[in-house]
Amino acid sequence: MSLSDEELDRYARHIVLPQIGGVGQKKLKAASVAVIGAGGIGSAVIPAVAGAGIGKLTIIDSDEVELSNLHRQPLFGEADAGKPKAELAMTFVSRLNRFVGVSPKIQRIATENARALLVGHDLVIDGSDNFATRLAVSDPCVALGIPLVSAAAVQFKGQVGFFRGRPCYRCFVGDAFDADDCDNCSELGVLGALTATIGSFAALLAINSIVGIGEDQAGKLHLFDGEKLEWRTMRIPPDPGCSACGSV
Ligand SMILES: [Zn+2]
Repeated sequence: MSLSDEELDRYARHIVLPQIGGVGQKKLKAASVAVIGAGGIGSAVIPAVAGAGIGKLTIIDSDEVELSNLHRQPLFGEADAGKPKAELAMTFVSRLNRFVGVSPKIQRIATENARALLVGHDLVIDGSDNFATRLAVSDPCVALGIPLVSAAAVQFKGQVGFFRGRPCYRCFVGDAFDADDCDNCSELGVLGALTATIGSFAALLAINSIVGIGEDQAGKLHLFDGEKLEWRTMRIPPDPGCSACGSV
């Protein structure tokens, strides 16, 4: 895989970084990433990873734009109400960076279709808004050996976890939430700038992981309090009885 003169120009501020360089930029170009959700978190993740030059991007979202999305989803404008987010996100990416191959999937990812949607990707970034979807995404990531960045934000609190094999996201939340949409932000509210913070952090973690920058983050959960404006990090213990990764 090589970089054209135009790509060298476009990514010059990356390539000058000793942590990235030409080698790291080629790793980004070679990477295939699936983003679950083009909502508040996705609106920060998608521009960051597309701008960074991720070679292939799959955007999975079944929703259409609503007026109440716009305070936290700057991928869209007022005229987009009623249109599918995945397609609009594709248009955004195509305008930003023609070197990114983008594939929109207007589908709700769930246990039945997750494996087929995720297979073949090098990394998954989940910015969905409920536990049932996150678990449906996590299980095939474990089975397929795909690293998962799982990001969530509600009200003033956000979290970003990184999982590769064991422990997995299911070790963290258990089996009680497979049919539960209990933290959906339509009921609880969420600050727009918070989803942007969490989404940007998730994108940074993903880029660092693909390039190989910094310490391995697998099994770590980063928690952000948007009122105190503080981050803290915890390590997730593997669940010996986890139904997803227990036998990995
Ligand atoms: Zn597990």
